[in-house]
Amino acid sequence: MSIIVQKFGGTSVGTTDRMKRMVSHVIKEREKGHDVIVVVSAMNKTTDTLVRLAGELSAKPCKREMDMLLSTGEQVTISLLTMALQQRGLESVSLTGRQAGIQTNGVFGNAKITSINTDRIKSELSKGRIVVVAGFQGITDIGEVTTLGRGGSDTTAAALAAALKADRCDIYTDVDGVYTSDPRIVPQVAKIDTLSYDEMLRLAAMGAGVLHPRAIKHAKEHLVPLVVCSSMDEGLGTVISEGTQRKARILGIAFQKDISVIKIHDCRGGESLILYDLDSHHIETEIIKFNDTLILIVKDKDFREVKRIVGQYNQAYSSVEEKESLSKISVIGRINSHEGKENVTNIFHDCHIAKELIWESPAGISALVDRSDVEKAARILHMHFGLDSVESMRAVL
Ligand code: ADP
Ligand code: ASP
Ligand code: MG
Repeated sequence: MSIIVQKFGGTSVGTTDRMKRMVSHVIKEREKGHDVIVVVSAMNKTTDTLVRLAGELSAKPCKREMDMLLSTGEQVTISLLTMALQQRGLESVSLTGRQAGIQTNGVFGNAKITSINTDRIKSELSKGRIVVVAGFQGITDIGEVTTLGRGGSDTTAAALAAALKADRCDIYTDVDGVYTSDPRIVPQVAKIDTLSYDEMLRLAAMGAGVLHPRAIKHAKEHLVPLVVCSSMDEGLGTVISEGTQRKARILGIAFQKDISVIKIHDCRGGESLILYDLDSHHIETEIIKFNDTLILIVKDKDFREVKRIVGQYNQAYSSVEEKESLSKISVIGRINSHEGKENVTNIFHDCHIAKELIWESPAGISALVDRSDVEKAARILHMHFGLDSVESMRAVL
C-alpha cells in the first residue's frame, strides 16, 4: 500500500474553518487509494503565546517544563482535526508523539529524533484509519516529553515519511512553494519548481524558514520526495528530491534576523575547550576563524549561555568583543568566494549598508548586518544577483 504523509502548518490549521478545509486534502489522497498520515502544528501563534506565558512567570524557565508546556499546542490540533475528519465520515485517530513511537534524545527544546517505532501507526493504518500525529514532539527513553526546536513539525513529518517508506511527504503551508527569498520580505521573488535535497538544505540552514533543516536530512536519508505547497490553493508547489539539480549559479537570498556575534581574540589555547563545552551544552553556533580570532555566530536565544561559557576560559584568550541585534544574510549558491565577497561588499557600500563581517561557507557568502538593515539588504542582493522574477520586473516597467 502506498503511503502519503501530509503536514499542515500553524496557519493551515489556525481556525476550525481552516481545519475543515484541510480535510479535503486528506480526502483527495484517500480517493487515490493511499494510506494517509497527517502531521500537524499548533494552531496559529499558539506556541508563541505559550512561550510568552512562561516568560510572565519566569525569566529563565526550566527547559523540561517548557517542553511539557509547548507540546500541548500540537495536542489541541490533533484532536480537533481528527474530529473534523470523523465528521466527514473518515475513520481516523489522533496520536501524540509518544503514542506514535517517536523517540528522541534528551535535549529539551531542540531534541533530535533517534528512532521511530512504527508499530502503532501501522496497526492503525491496517484498520483503515487516517492517523493524525502531533508534530514537534517526542519522548526520551526515560519517558520525558521533548520538543524538536521551533518549526520542528516539518521534521516529524519527514522522519515519519522516512520510517514508513512513504511515497511522498507533502508540506502544506501558507506559501505555494519555495522561493528565491522570503516572499513576505522580498516582493520580487521567483518560485523554484524543483530543488535537490542539498540545495534546499543550504537554503534552510541559512534561514529560509519554510522548512526545518532537519526535515530535509531525514527525507534525504531515505530519499522521500518533499513537496512544499499551499494549503489554500491548488498548485504543484516545489518538489525537493535527489534527482533535481538547478543549473543557475545562485539559488537565493536567505537571512536569519536574531543573530549576535562573539569575537574571541588571541584564542590560541582555548579554542578546543570552548568548542567542546558549547557542543556538550548542545548549542549550535557557526564558527569562523580569522588568524588568532575565533568568531562565534550565535542565535540570540543562546547568546547569554555562550557568553557564560566563553567567560569560563578567560585565561585562554586576550579579550572578547560582542555585538547583539545583528542579522545574518547569505547569498546561497555556487559562487566564487573572492569575487562573491567583493561583490557583496561593493553593493553594501553603494547602498550605505554597514556590514560587521563577511565570510564564505560551503553554502555561499554570508555577512552580518545591523538588524534594521537586513530586509533592505535582502531586496538589494536579490536584485543585484539577478534573482528578481521576470513578472516583477515587467510590473515595474
Ligand atoms: P508553517 O506554519 O506552515 O510551518 P512557516 O511560517 O514555518 O509555516 O513557513 C512558511 C513561511 O516561510 C512563509 O510564510 C515565508 O514567509 C517563509 N519563508 C522564508 N523563506 C522562504 C522561501 N525561500 N520560500 C518560501 N517561504 C519562505
Ligand atoms: N508549533 C511549533 C512552532 O511554532 C512547531 C511547528 O509549528 O512546526 O515552532
Ligand atoms: Mg514551519
